[in-house]
Amino acid sequence: MNLAGIGMTSQRTRERLVGRLLEQGIKHWGVLDVVRSTPRHIFLDEALSHRAYEDVALPIGYNQTISQPYIVAKMTEAVLNNHPSLDTGKLNNVLEIGTGCGYQTAIIAPLARKVYSVERIKPLLEKARKNIRVLGLNNVQFKHDDGSMGWKEKGPFDAIIAAAAPRRVPEELLAQLAEGGRLIIPIGGEDVQELRLITRQGDEFHTEVVATVRFVPLFIGSIQN
Ligand code: SAH
Repeated sequence: MNLAGIGMTSQRTRERLVGRLLEQGIKHWGVLDVVRSTPRHIFLDEALSHRAYEDVALPIGYNQTISQPYIVAKMTEAVLNNHPSLDTGKLNNVLEIGTGCGYQTAIIAPLARKVYSVERIKPLLEKARKNIRVLGLNNVQFKHDDGSMGWKEKGPFDAIIAAAAPRRVPEELLAQLAEGGRLIIPIGGEDVQELRLITRQGDEFHTEVVATVRFVPLFIGSIQN
């Protein structure tokens, strides 16, 4: 098969994926548009890339996974819905904790002015950096670090998206939310977690449970080279 053929095949399978997301209740047209135009297969090793448009999490090495497209869409939609900053078109700045291979990064980047993304496993961060460059996205700044304390110098953030689960909500992340800002984060043990959407209003934080999920644990206090 030639390259153009592969491109067309993936476009068709992506349309089907978007159809499934719609059926599952994703409504935000901006999110659906970005999923439709983002090649998920480039984030996977060749041996798995034929499964890229199935709505499942898949291994990316180092005991980590690329998130299920539905969950990525759901988290992105949750931080965007009725966000006060969207009066100006996009979110200002978004913090992502747990870059992995960068798929979620690629989905939020077109919907924000600036994305800051932290990953504790260096080779994964390098993969993500490459993927984001290949896609021509130039509004992402990466950092190899423990992201459990956020990224204070770049805050406060309109949105914080965490792709790994701590047992309780880190106070530092709440403190780095801008007025009206949203934190979406899985909270719980290894087997099952609540996906929580926390919205800041002044010094108050409103919590909504969005779904039951299973993310990898958020490591605290160490990085991996
Ligand atoms: N966002 C990815 C999912 C990555 S899986 C996607 O779109 O598919 C979660 C990632 O969180 C893993 O790569 C893991 O290494 C990372 N992680 C876990 N604890 C972390 C921490 N304290 N700081 C930064 N990254 C962390």
